[in-house]
Amino acid sequence: MKIPMRQCSACRGHFEKRQLLRIVRTPDGDVLVDRRGKVSGRGVYICCNEDCLNKAIKTKALSRALETPVSDETIESIRQAIRETANG
Ligand SMILES: [Zn+2]
Repeated sequence: MKIPMRQCSACRGHFEKRQLLRIVRTPDGDVLVDRRGKVSGRGVYICCNEDCLNKAIKTKALSRALETPVSDETIESIRQAIRETANG
């Protein structure tokens, strides 16, 4: 069985899809965390940890991959999602 692999846009490592967090730019131009992997739009993946989020902020990997600026508010909601996931 083939496991779907995706690349983290921060550390460039390849991981199983379910280990990553998907960030989506919707057709309306909103950027949001897609916890269920169901939102349509341009998606980017990052590891579910704050190291990779911080790296992504520093290198602007998310806004580059999504081709749109990512607001601080969105960054905070990503951080929140990572924390919630980390806490089970
Ligand atoms: Zn990563």
